[in-house]
Amino acid sequence: MLYIVLTTGQCNLKCKYCGGSFPKELVPWEVQYSVKDLFNFISEDRDAIIAFYGGEPLLNPEFIEEVVKKIPAKRFVIQTNGLLIENLKPEIWRRMDAVLLSIDGRREITDFYRSKRVYDRVLKAAHKLRVMGFKGDLIARMAVSEKSDVFLDVKHLIELNLFHHVHWQLDVIWSDSWVDFDGWVSSSYKPGISKLVDLWLRCMERGEVLGIVPFQGVMKAILQGGIGSPPCGSGRNAFAISTDGRILACPIAVDVGWAFLGYIWQTKPKELRNSVLIGEPCVSCEFFKYCGGRCLYAYKERLWGEEGFRKVCEITKYMISKLLKVSLKVRQLIEAGIIDLKQVLYPEFNNTTEIIP
Ligand code: SF4
Ligand code: SF4
Repeated sequence: MLYIVLTTGQCNLKCKYCGGSFPKELVPWEVQYSVKDLFNFISEDRDAIIAFYGGEPLLNPEFIEEVVKKIPAKRFVIQTNGLLIENLKPEIWRRMDAVLLSIDGRREITDFYRSKRVYDRVLKAAHKLRVMGFKGDLIARMAVSEKSDVFLDVKHLIELNLFHHVHWQLDVIWSDSWVDFDGWVSSSYKPGISKLVDLWLRCMERGEVLGIVPFQGVMKAILQGGIGSPPCGSGRNAFAISTDGRILACPIAVDVGWAFLGYIWQTKPKELRNSVLIGEPCVSCEFFKYCGGRCLYAYKERLWGEEGFRKVCEITKYMISKLLKVSLKVRQLIEAGIIDLKQVLYPEFNNTTEIIP
């Protein structure tokens, strides 16, 4: 199972689509339980994946170090904005299986949404991780908003040759900053997805599989007959542990009743499996097999109402349709030995990339 461990509710940035730190009363800025409590909770799980999360997790490096040293998880992952890379010792970075660095694409897009000079600092962090001997999967984690051009921004990050994989999450449902969402979808996002799928296929024809996470994850589902619901595992086999020891179905669902599943000292992971599930309209949707209901939080909260939910479904269906269209060609390339099936099947384990943007 995946345990998303919040090391603090505090963040050192205030990005436009997020707003920065959690209020202290919702997610305390210090961890209020002991590593022994966490050890006791997780110890029966031989396949535990621990992902450090925040706020900005590197504001609490001592806790991360202690967890890595004392809890025998199978994998460690961290999601960070990359500004405090030096806070963690090289020996701890070398224990990470995946590092997700937040960056939104081109310099002007990243710096507009995240803060001035963030782009340069993130690239520097990516270099530093290599110097410190990190050999795992380096993932660029993007938020895609109204100023983003998904084609140009994803392509830009791929061409930097710094990241093994690029993943994006759409700034939708919880965001109220859109001026013209429909216009952006038809003039920018859909054409961008189409061009990106073409580029992905052209590279595969030359034997190269670009690490575009949503495409790989959906293609994995197509080749293997389906995806889990929801794809991120929230409420099914992925749970967040807040700084106060609360177990939550999803790491951002810090203030909603449906997501609260108890405290780490009260329950065991096996009792949590499949605690919160996605139902209609998703389970009857023709795309459910490859979409999995997308995001549990968005499904439960519907902050854009029914119409907004359907608008996001429409772009999810668009991306999946494009990938279904090229799937026969992908199978042929695999059978012809031009690309290796293993290169396409991603992620190997739940590394917190949610697959469906
Ligand atoms: S496309 Fe929409 S309705 Fe269909 S499974 Fe995905 S989230 Fe649910
Ligand atoms: S995809 Fe949705 S449900 Fe899953 S972790 Fe992200 S916000 Fe939570």
